[in-house]
Amino acid sequence: MTELSPALKQATPVLAARGEGVYLYDEDDRRYLDFTAGIGVTSTGHCHPRVVEAAQRQVGTLIHGQYTTVMHKPLLQLTERLGDVLPSGLDRVFYVNSGSEAVEASVRLARHATGRPNIIALEGGFHGRTMGAAALTTSGVKVRAGIGPMMGGVVFTPFPEPYRWQCSTEQAVQRALAEFDQLLLTQSSPRDTAAIIVEPVLGEGGYIPAPPQFLAGLRERADAHGFLLIVDEVQTGVGRTGRFWGHDHAGIRPDVLITAKGLASGFPLSAIAASEELMSKAWPGSQGGTYGGNAVAAAAALATLDVVEQEGLVANAAEQGARLAEGLRKVAADHPVIGDVRGLGLMLGNEFTTPEGTPDAATAARAHAAAAEAGLLLLTCGPAGNVVRMIPPLIVTTEQVDAAIELWATAV
Ligand code: PLP
Repeated sequence: MTELSPALKQATPVLAARGEGVYLYDEDDRRYLDFTAGIGVTSTGHCHPRVVEAAQRQVGTLIHGQYTTVMHKPLLQLTERLGDVLPSGLDRVFYVNSGSEAVEASVRLARHATGRPNIIALEGGFHGRTMGAAALTTSGVKVRAGIGPMMGGVVFTPFPEPYRWQCSTEQAVQRALAEFDQLLLTQSSPRDTAAIIVEPVLGEGGYIPAPPQFLAGLRERADAHGFLLIVDEVQTGVGRTGRFWGHDHAGIRPDVLITAKGLASGFPLSAIAASEELMSKAWPGSQGGTYGGNAVAAAAALATLDVVEQEGLVANAAEQGARLAEGLRKVAADHPVIGDVRGLGLMLGNEFTTPEGTPDAATAARAHAAAAEAGLLLLTCGPAGNVVRMIPPLIVTTEQVDAAIELWATAV
């Protein structure tokens, strides 16, 4: 008998039969409040009628038209539509299917554009599981375990972590930037540095927002030394943090922006955006992928962007995120094992810590399982798996947020 690989058998025991809005239903029609959103993907909720309608229409029109062979209208329309939301000047867009592939494309672009070898990544960052993306990833040792040698030319610098470093945000920023300056003197001279890649909120690394001063400091150094600032918005983009892009909180402009997950409500689609100068002059060689920029995924993304705009989902993420954070902080106040509640918008983490101050993955795992048992699906993250995170669809309502807080309080 053929079975799933062991890696897939470890997944949650819920057998999802269907999804509707913020809810998933199993084969017995038991309802779960889905605060995982397929790891931040189903931004408009499960099976939003407008996304379903757009995809169904496209399926009956043209499913696949490989974009280096024939171009198709959904991708052209999506590209034009992205112009409404992309940072000014980032007006050339390239499409692939997943976050990891887009990260790989950004590395190719940076190396081509600068002629320099090194990519600097943040300690605790996550950029995917393909070999290039895994080389940039340190959160979750499992991503790299036993698969070396990794891609060369990758250097790591610390991400400011006020909670774990037990200091103020300002002190954490100063320390992280000082270490970055030191790294540019010792391990990756500016003339060898093609780019730094950063997440606006450290995602798999524990839902730690990058302080605006930190991102501004990276921007300054990229300008001063002529390397690129790549912002990985795979998890933080398309409204998730209560602004359209996570980096909007810092008021900086990336040189390369990566987006995926929430872009197409569950259809595989990712993109990188950069200036015309970077994309056209500095990107020779073969690019693309057989399924990149799929027509149905592009139609779903177009519908997603319309729903995000017309249903005010960015503002909803800010409002419901603030409500959820407040509720989680109240729960944490009664449970000292939750040492920190943090995040941005609808991307919130609860860090479990022992009285001695060490990560408490066992209690986090128990709370995570108890929540699922009670009907609330959550995820864990963080270097030790001790952060229970909540990343619901952006359509979540006040009643659903309050219900989730209540279930969480009983699960911890
Ligand atoms: N970058 C970030 C910030 C992510 O959170 C992820 C996935 O969680 C990726 C890249 C990789 O995306 P994918 O799993 O679609 O390859």
